[in-house]
Amino acid sequence: MTYQLTADTFAGLTLLANEPLAKYTHTKTGGPADWLVFPETVAQVQAIVTYVHDHQIPLTVLGNASNLIVKDGGIAGLVMILTKMKHIEVHDTIVTAQAGAAYIDTTIVARDHHLSGLEFAAGIPGSVGGAVFMNAGAYGGETKHVVKSATVLTPAGEIKTLSNQELDFGYRHSAVQDDNLVVLAADFQLTPGDFDQIKAEMDDLNARRAAKQPLELPSCGSVFKRPTGYFAGKLIHDAGLQGYTVGGAQVSTKHAGFIVNIGNGTATDYLAVIRHVQATVKAKFGVDLETEVRIIGRD
Ligand SMILES: Cc1cc2nc3c(=O)[nH]c(=O)nc-3n(C[C@H](O)[C@H](O)[C@H](O)COP(=O)(O)OP(=O)(O)OC[C@H]3O[C@@H](n4cnc5c(N)ncnc54)[C@H](O)[C@@H]3O)c2cc1C
Repeated sequence: MTYQLTADTFAGLTLLANEPLAKYTHTKTGGPADWLVFPETVAQVQAIVTYVHDHQIPLTVLGNASNLIVKDGGIAGLVMILTKMKHIEVHDTIVTAQAGAAYIDTTIVARDHHLSGLEFAAGIPGSVGGAVFMNAGAYGGETKHVVKSATVLTPAGEIKTLSNQELDFGYRHSAVQDDNLVVLAADFQLTPGDFDQIKAEMDDLNARRAAKQPLELPSCGSVFKRPTGYFAGKLIHDAGLQGYTVGGAQVSTKHAGFIVNIGNGTATDYLAVIRHVQATVKAKFGVDLETEVRIIGRD
């Protein structure tokens, strides 16, 4: 920890030193952040980004930490979790949500304003910022279909609005990843709909999710991207890997695409299971499984 940071570097914000990230990740694994901060305003995010840029301090931005494996060595520098920036407002058919708003809460606000378009995201446990970063999608819907624009912060501290096109969405990809941007907020362009129909669709998708996914155990969702022409879960199932366990990390017996923490699992356990699954699927079917989950931090 040689960085020029102390507990009160940012006026009015508490910096937590050596804070275990397993407290925040959906897998319940991961080592400590050198420093962790929860900004509450855009001005605070801007001050943080400008400071770390000027002082060359590594910065990692997190939302709900639902698509992450943080290695057991933790994360160097400053980690900024945006979940306290969670305001959502509605103007006509546009829902504007701050980056730290839960995607699920955003779908509920849209539904309650009789606005259709976000039903697909009813059960995606990420934040709006993480959803834009990842172009999160489910059941045929994708974030790129509903985002009108996003407000982002550049590494130099400049606030910009990027249109849907400028966000350059692809399969689990957006320009946010390439340009090291921080998503501050997103505008979702929705269409007027019927409350009962929207609710029925969301309830149905959530029931399908609960039936198929091991939501009762910690996980990071689907670990692998869909390889062209295949389904990752089917390949893993056909390779006989369900139930494969290292330490406390296990290929789910309910959904082969998930790796669950069955108790005291570590990120090292997760990575060992991932490597074994990749090697086995490659040997049996000749298919490379690429991780969808982001693996970050030091060994
Ligand atoms: C049970 C379960 C089910 C899931 N189902 C789905 C699904 O159906 N579809 C799907 O697409 N995903 C699914 N996921 C994965 C995950 O919820 C999504 O990828 C989600 O969009 C990640 O958002 P997050 O806030 O948790 O991001 P995090 O995990 O916190 O971060 C993911 C990446 O986004 C970056 N990031 C986060 N916020 C910002 C920001 N404001 N600005 C810049 N970068 C940022 C982080 O640096 C990191 O690289 C599931 C996960 C779980 C645990």
